[in-house]
Amino acid sequence: MILIYTENWDGKFKKLTYELVSYGSELAKQLNTNVVALSIGNVEDNELQKLGDYGASKIVSINEAALETFDTQVYATVITQIAENEGAKTVVLAHNNVGKAISPRLSAKLKAGLVSGVENLPTSVEPFTVKKKVFTGKAFANIVIKSDIKILTLFQNSFGLVENKKDAEIEKFSVSVSDSGTTVLETKKATGKLLLSDAEIVISAGRGMKSGDNWQPIEELAELLGGGTACSRPVSDEGWRPHDEHVGQTGKIIAPNLYFAFGISGAIQHLGGVSSSKFIVAINTDKDAPIFEAANYGIIGDARTILPEMIEAVKRIK
Ligand SMILES: Cc1cc2nc3c(=O)[nH]c(=O)nc-3n(C[C@H](O)[C@H](O)[C@H](O)COP(=O)(O)OP(=O)(O)OC[C@H]3O[C@@H](n4cnc5c(N)ncnc54)[C@H](O)[C@@H]3O)c2cc1C
Repeated sequence: MILIYTENWDGKFKKLTYELVSYGSELAKQLNTNVVALSIGNVEDNELQKLGDYGASKIVSINEAALETFDTQVYATVITQIAENEGAKTVVLAHNNVGKAISPRLSAKLKAGLVSGVENLPTSVEPFTVKKKVFTGKAFANIVIKSDIKILTLFQNSFGLVENKKDAEIEKFSVSVSDSGTTVLETKKATGKLLLSDAEIVISAGRGMKSGDNWQPIEELAELLGGGTACSRPVSDEGWRPHDEHVGQTGKIIAPNLYFAFGISGAIQHLGGVSSSKFIVAINTDKDAPIFEAANYGIIGDARTILPEMIEAVKRIK
């Protein structure tokens, strides 16, 4: 059985959850097994049922007040318990901050081999071999997991949504949560804002914008296209933009369908966070900027004159 750890945002599943379940059900075909999805939090039955559309045959739903605050140790213990109850041989989580925090603990608890940051189904199930990018995407590694239980973390947007309708049975489960020994003093949750990692379109900008005061057109374009805003690291280091917008090796790793890079040189550390985007559009005054090697479309020109033209063009099309 394959266990999928799902994530929701205020009771609605994140897009990555459907990707994880789709991945799990395609993997289940290879392994000739079924998919159980685990949901933690207050998620209504009609929302839970949607996981059946992507191939989950069972949904274990846990809604405990003690799990309202995310605590890695407690969550790892709960997921371990469900994995053991259900006899999971493979556990799949998202390759985001949550998955990256939980999966090593799960790996230790379940004595399971872990491969983090996969983008595709295993190239072979006997031996269980997965291919993943290494060295900021400069090379690939084929990794064989030999343990009985296997854990994978999947990059967002790397695996599309695959409909695979099943009549999913919902099981409400309660757990007794013991104290992890750590206390979360405060959690600050962004509300009403598109999660950068969930955005299909991302408008990103770098030092070429010259100043934090020049971001209005970036925000306007993002608003018009229903996208999120991101930036390069020096931009957030300068305090021009908040740190949660910084993408790259040391920031968020994103993979939207469309990534606009205004005034970003395309350093390897930046590309490490965005190179899995389906389409990259680069706007840069320097025709030799490395970003053009990674981009599908390039415009050589001044971001500050091209941005208003793009905004006008989008308004016209709309
Ligand atoms: C260990 C380590 C980790 C790092 N992690 C990250 C990371 O996670 N994310 C990250 O982004 N960086 C990271 N960096 C920094 C990275 O190496 C680069 O320095 C950084 O990405 C450059 O940011 P930039 O492209 O905004 O600025 P610059 O390199 O200064 O590039 C600005 C670009 O704008 C262009 N430009 C100038 N004016 C205009 C204009 N008017 N219109 C259009 N284009 C214009 C220029 O031609 C240039 O290409 C890391 C570095 C290290 C050493």
